[in-house]
Amino acid sequence: MLLSIVVPVYNEEDNIKKFYSSVKDVLATLPYEHEIIFVDDGSSDNSAVMLHHIAEEDASVRVYLLARNFGHQLALTCGLDHAKGDAIITMDGDMQHPPALIPELVRHWEEGYDVVRTIRDSTEDASWAKAFTSKYYYKLMNLMANVPIVEGGSDFRLMNRRALATLLKFREHGRFLRGIVGDLGFKQAEVHFVAPPRFAGKSKFSVRKMLHFALDGIAAFSNVPLRMSFYIGLLCGLLSLLMILHILFVHFFTDDAVSGWATLGVAIFFLGGVQLICIGIIGEYVGRVFEEVKHRPLYWVKDSFHFDAGDEKK
Ligand code: UDP
Ligand code: MG
Repeated sequence: MLLSIVVPVYNEEDNIKKFYSSVKDVLATLPYEHEIIFVDDGSSDNSAVMLHHIAEEDASVRVYLLARNFGHQLALTCGLDHAKGDAIITMDGDMQHPPALIPELVRHWEEGYDVVRTIRDSTEDASWAKAFTSKYYYKLMNLMANVPIVEGGSDFRLMNRRALATLLKFREHGRFLRGIVGDLGFKQAEVHFVAPPRFAGKSKFSVRKMLHFALDGIAAFSNVPLRMSFYIGLLCGLLSLLMILHILFVHFFTDDAVSGWATLGVAIFFLGGVQLICIGIIGEYVGRVFEEVKHRPLYWVKDSFHFDAGDEKK
């Protein structure tokens, strides 16, 4: 039995050594062979060189260098595509996904679970803003998406070969792996953990990246925003009907003149705003359709160490 560990790395030069040695220590206690797959997501620091050194020393380490920064989800996908294990664990390289939890994930796998998900109960050092947005994001997702997205879900998880083979058939660009895994079915177990602070460095998720990730999740699993624009339109239609009735009443049954440049102005701006928002929502989906129909590769690799001749380069 082979255990694969898949780790996306983006400018983590201060974390790699610590991560590698802790994972190695934990894996040594398990009765399985292992491979560690590092995917360098276009780092601009020394990460790639360090990974190269590690791969030179340790034949169980394989490294893929992506040609540029593709983002966490696609870097993970590259690692998953190349993992050969019977059980595959994905985790972050910054120690926020504690390697000490690996034996527990493995135990659930031994008990016959296909997927072992982890739930982050809290993050020790998370800023108030991040904890708040993350909490409400999950609530919003669950309101909108048609698959359950567990609050605090993370990309630290174990999958067996069968579950992974199914996951790999999902080739969409705007990926939200948590949602896809939630949608897979199979026998899933859950493990709770508290994420320690990052060992070194800063979070690689800028506000922009977080927002895109959040939108990917919503757009990929829900058409509620599109429906909402329909209902807003309906509401506006009903309101205008009431206004028409009011105007007819004033005109025919009272002596007042129908007045109202103010109402007119407000109505024009309000409706203009609503329409632009709705076009924006539609545009968001159309843009995603465009992205997908181009069928471009999800990522491309510029170099790899311990790359097996039998593998097809993806
Ligand atoms: N990461 C990546 N590509 C990116 C951003 C992040 O491969 O564009 C990696 C990063 O090196 C880390 C993991 O994804 O191993 C999680 O990133 P981070 O710790 O910055 O996210 P956070 O824990 O703050 O959500
Ligand atoms: Mg982190």
